[in-house]
Amino acid sequence: MFPQEMSSIIFVGVWSLTSVGVGLISGFLIGRLYTLGNEPRKIKKDRETTMNALLEVMNSTHQLNEDVDIHNVALESAKKELETIDSEPQFDTLQTKLVDNITRVVQSNRRLENDLIVSRFKLENQAQEIDRTRREARTDALCCVGNRKAVDENLQFRVSRYDNKGMSFGLMLIDIDHFKRINDTFGHKAGDEVLTSIALALQECIRPKDFVGRLGGDEFVLILEELTEETAESVGKRIRAAIELYDFSINSLGQSTVVTMSMGLSVVAPGDTVASLYERADRALYKSKQLGRNRLSTITERTLNASAETVNLGNPAGGISYEAFKASFADSNLET
Ligand code: GH3
Ligand code: MG
Repeated sequence: MFPQEMSSIIFVGVWSLTSVGVGLISGFLIGRLYTLGNEPRKIKKDRETTMNALLEVMNSTHQLNEDVDIHNVALESAKKELETIDSEPQFDTLQTKLVDNITRVVQSNRRLENDLIVSRFKLENQAQEIDRTRREARTDALCCVGNRKAVDENLQFRVSRYDNKGMSFGLMLIDIDHFKRINDTFGHKAGDEVLTSIALALQECIRPKDFVGRLGGDEFVLILEELTEETAESVGKRIRAAIELYDFSINSLGQSTVVTMSMGLSVVAPGDTVASLYERADRALYKSKQLGRNRLSTITERTLNASAETVNLGNPAGGISYEAFKASFADSNLET
């Protein structure tokens, strides 16, 4: 019975120390995450909750240590008694004492186990809450795609990955043509509906590994992965054509409208930064607007100081349903 009980105590000791370690690390990370945010009152409240959860774990561990110490002293004296025992009743008394001690430690272990479960639950809930807050801070409230912050982080990540692993990508800036007219014709609320539908439509056009964001107003961004200049242009052309054909319905008015967009593309090149990618794509977009809108322009590294290369496109045709629009992308998945 001795070695088995002792190993169980050692196991619980190790387990509890590990749990406290996990708790402390989580607390530290949670604390750090929040110092990056801008919500002082929430930070204070969450720090208190984390601290309380950790204190509970530490109290329980302290209690367990005390119980184990008491138990060790009792075991030591039992060992001495055992050497001098020479009758059956004495042996029975000693056994009762031992069982009593071990029962107390087992109860103490169980209490610690429960405390740890409660503390872990609290810490996990907090981690989820932080994750939700973090996601909200990177999501555009109207269109539910990435916001400017998310776009910038995403670009920074891809630039670093391009530097390290050579994985290329393209940045596509999109500005809706004459969007003010949509607002003026149908009202601002209808304009909001159209913006939301545009975001949805753009999401339908891209692959899961690509990224859609809204920079604000009628400006959107696509980050297209693993594309060369040629393939990125061809993908951009198809997206532009698809949006032009798509009938954007305004449910609140029972009407629909055709939308066109101007696009500016930059494809990552050695030495690029987030700023230089934006700068090229922005200039390309400006060029698309200047040349009459509803088109894609690219400013490549080679044409940095020259005019943008442009892809001229036809007139808006309009009029396909959302289902037909989705179906046109379903098979091809934008691979060129
Ligand atoms: P251009 O072809 O030159 O881009 O013309 P435009 O009318 O689209 O002009 P611009 O892009 O400069 O203006 C975008 C307009 O989008 C301005 C503003 O009234 C409208 N807008 C900005 N944010 C929102 C929004 O959240 N909802 C709605 N409905 N309209 C918005
Ligand atoms: Mg616009």
